[in-house]
Amino acid sequence: MKVLKKVDYSDWRHRIKCGRCTSELEADPADVRAQHHEADNDPRGSSPAYFTFHCTCAVCSNELTIAKDDVPAAMQHFLQEKALNRRSSYSSDWGGK
Ligand SMILES: [Zn+2]
Repeated sequence: MKVLKKVDYSDWRHRIKCGRCTSELEADPADVRAQHHEADNDPRGSSPAYFTFHCTCAVCSNELTIAKDDVPAAMQHFLQEKALNRRSSYSSDWGGK
């Protein structure tokens, strides 16, 4: 397979303000983790499984949520796979390092 364009998100940075200690922070890809939410099969209102993205405040350890729209699709995919432990040997590959 010839890769024509590999999306490199190693330079991704996201500024976020902690809601608890109000510190201003900058997350990089290694700071972010995906949280898997099981599908809800409630017949009154079922919903498919989904992921949310989080990082931890370096000052007060508060868990911060990063909007899905702020996370590149390729990075979402990587984090989702990591969350599901399907690729444990792939976990140290952040592209640039
Ligand atoms: Zn904080």
